[in-house]
Amino acid sequence: MFWEQNVFIGTETDIGLRRKNNEDSHSTHLCLTEAEWRRHGHLFIVADGMGGHAVGELASRIAVDTIPHTFLKSNERDVRTTLREAVLCANSAIHARGTQNEDFLHMGTTCTALTLSRQGAIVAHVGDSRAYRIRRDRIDQLTFDHSLEWELERNHHKFSSAIDLAQHKNIITRSLGPEPTVQVDVEGPYPVLPNDTFLLCSDGLSNLVADEEMGAIARELPPENAAKLLIHLANIRGGPDNSTVIIARVGELPANVEPEFLPEEPDDQQSLGWAWLIGFWVVAMFLAGGLSLLAIQRTIAGVAVTACSSIALLALLVASFRQTRQKLQSEFRSHAGRPHRTAVALDSKPLFERLAEISHDLQRAAREDGWNVNWKLHDQAIQAAESAAESLRYAKAVRHVSRAIDSLMQEHPHTASSPKP
Ligand code: CA
Repeated sequence: MFWEQNVFIGTETDIGLRRKNNEDSHSTHLCLTEAEWRRHGHLFIVADGMGGHAVGELASRIAVDTIPHTFLKSNERDVRTTLREAVLCANSAIHARGTQNEDFLHMGTTCTALTLSRQGAIVAHVGDSRAYRIRRDRIDQLTFDHSLEWELERNHHKFSSAIDLAQHKNIITRSLGPEPTVQVDVEGPYPVLPNDTFLLCSDGLSNLVADEEMGAIARELPPENAAKLLIHLANIRGGPDNSTVIIARVGELPANVEPEFLPEEPDDQQSLGWAWLIGFWVVAMFLAGGLSLLAIQRTIAGVAVTACSSIALLALLVASFRQTRQKLQSEFRSHAGRPHRTAVALDSKPLFERLAEISHDLQRAAREDGWNVNWKLHDQAIQAAESAAESLRYAKAVRHVSRAIDSLMQEHPHTASSPKP
């Protein structure tokens, strides 16, 4: 991406409906000067703390404070290395704090940190908070969940029953803090195109809002409104956990800047390369020559050439098989340039219909329970949404119905009584 591309951000965090503390933390850092951007790029972090009482809150707060501090002052030119080191530094800081006080022992946090720089989008990641990229109708999960569910699936083990899955799916297998060292996954660089939208979130959101909904909402609404609506959806669906989201949308290229070209995915068909193909071709020619010699009764020469070329062919096959397997294994480990999961975002029409239904149910609850809603504003938004839908302008209808949901959720008993962040 280029410095000239603006980045529009929306962030939102909420305690949810059932927790006493918000143990999620987040931070965003947009570079103010080109020199600063060339050195390290924009930075976004979501961390979801754990450990009970105020301990999780402390762990996630240390992560989102330590990472920018370390990352932004580093002179290392490679963003992947800098980001990994910053996350490792946060791990050491949380671990050190945990060992100082018995109450803080084993405190930990997930951490997903994204940079948008001239090298592209790079994510450093530990735990089950997620980073997504939304491009047109496609939503790609760029991070691997370090959860029992995902680790078992990677090793081809499945839960034996739905009860097992429900009990264990949220157990995380890696976090910052509990151990003196941690393995950090660094993903990317992923190419960044104009209008690409990046979304980081804690599991309080991703457990309750499906990828295809997240993709559609992030595509249809400005980042600030999309962030609000996503958190509202998590709360409307029960809000069992804290939920946090950061949305960053990359702007258009200025007219005088040439778009950069970067290959989207590695091309598997080219994975063996021309050298191997030429090798196979040469050996095949020798094999054909040997068989021809046998056909014209030149037995000794024919047997020698055929045997040698057969052995060479076998050796080439074994070597190419090994190389392909190593390549696939290393790609599986690093997922270089590939998302871990992909979904198709909902079209505007089904998204509108889903939101209209949610809005309708919410409106009924608000009227029955006497929420202090500004009904005039709400009804205007609903009328505008219905009229846009009648003329098949569903993207516009989505914007209006999300306004109506926001006007209701502003007065939801939980929101109305919570201190504003
Ligand atoms: Ca959580």
